[in-house]
Amino acid sequence: MLEELPRFIDPKQLALQNAYLKGEVALAQLKRLHDSLCEIQGIVKIEWIFALDNKQRPTIQGSIQARLPMRCQRCLQPLPWTVDTQIALVVFNGEPHPNEELLIGYEIITLNHHRLSLLSLIEDEIILALPIVAKHDICIANEYQLSAEKMTNNASSNPFQLLLKLK
Ligand SMILES: [Zn+2]
Repeated sequence: MLEELPRFIDPKQLALQNAYLKGEVALAQLKRLHDSLCEIQGIVKIEWIFALDNKQRPTIQGSIQARLPMRCQRCLQPLPWTVDTQIALVVFNGEPHPNEELLIGYEIITLNHHRLSLLSLIEDEIILALPIVAKHDICIANEYQLSAEKMTNNASSNPFQLLLKLK
């Protein structure tokens, strides 16, 4: 069972309540990630705390965890990618003033309305946590290739022996 998360959140309201938001989102709902995935299966877990900072600005802190079935860009085979990222956001209504003092280590997100799409925020944060190019350290296909090459080098002049070894 997925714990139901709200579709939209009002960070100010949640911060005033010191709200704690914990739940799961299906990868199927995070459409912007789909192009990077080899199958649309799995969940993303979030655990966030809302609070006001010393200037009464809403902040969001917490974790995003997922295991994404990505595709290796080199061998095109599945590549499970673990996302375990911490977020620290300070929420502004409209563009922040250029002289605005910011908390160290916090990213700014700006709202045009009071509410924020939770799904698109999760998507944004996962996209930031993804590798630019997803690929295996050593592709499985390459491993086969390497061992086949080794065999060729070690093989005697009898090609049938090599065939036997490959079986
Ligand atoms: Zn690969």
